[in-house]
Amino acid sequence: MASIAIDGPAGAGKSTIAKKVAKELGFIYVDTGALYRAIAYDLLKNDVDIDDEKALSAACDGMQVEIRYEDGLQQVYLNGENVTPFLRTEETGNMASKSSAKAPVRAALLELQRDMARRFDVVMDGRDIGTNVLPAAEVKIYLTASSKERASRRYKELVEKGESPDFDQIEADIIERDQRDMNREIAPLKQAEDAVLIDSSDMDIDEVTAAILAAAKERL
Ligand code: C5P
Repeated sequence: MASIAIDGPAGAGKSTIAKKVAKELGFIYVDTGALYRAIAYDLLKNDVDIDDEKALSAACDGMQVEIRYEDGLQQVYLNGENVTPFLRTEETGNMASKSSAKAPVRAALLELQRDMARRFDVVMDGRDIGTNVLPAAEVKIYLTASSKERASRRYKELVEKGESPDFDQIEADIIERDQRDMNREIAPLKQAEDAVLIDSSDMDIDEVTAAILAAAKERL
């Protein structure tokens, strides 16, 4: 089985591009952020204090997270319930950004991710895939873009949804998430030594996809 790991900060375009690369190669796309969001959703629902180590460990021990594919799309099941529709909210994303720094949360998801890569050819995106989850991945990409560019993409998305977002607030949130992901003790976000760095600030989706496919062609 072959693995392509795509890591990078929030809003760099990882999921859009990972999906395209997976389709092109006939690989399965694994969105690991959705797994952290599923746990965050459950922690919020059950009002778990994530700074209470015992409570957090007990909550994580009692969770069963599964990935299934329906019509080719990843669905995340938590204790038998498909929670995918609830994962993309700001509240869940914020909680995921905080709870993903905690050891019991990361431990709960590590084997699930590795198991996917053992069973399928995967394009897996996240923060620590090339450094920690799949250190032997054949292809590793570190996909980034300036915080201004990432905020501007998010801003446009929200405007298209009919919202009236505040640009500075969006950029501040992005920078805060970067800081949390890069400075946590366990599996922080960083470029793996053997990863190809792609800065997508001045590239469109097709250009980034082509760059990753070229890197994959060399290494697979
Ligand atoms: O990528 P997405 O925004 O869906 O991820 C939600 C949160 O999960 C991120 O803010 C990040 O803190 C965390 N995450 C992580 N490791 C991964 C994927 C996501 O810590 N492999």
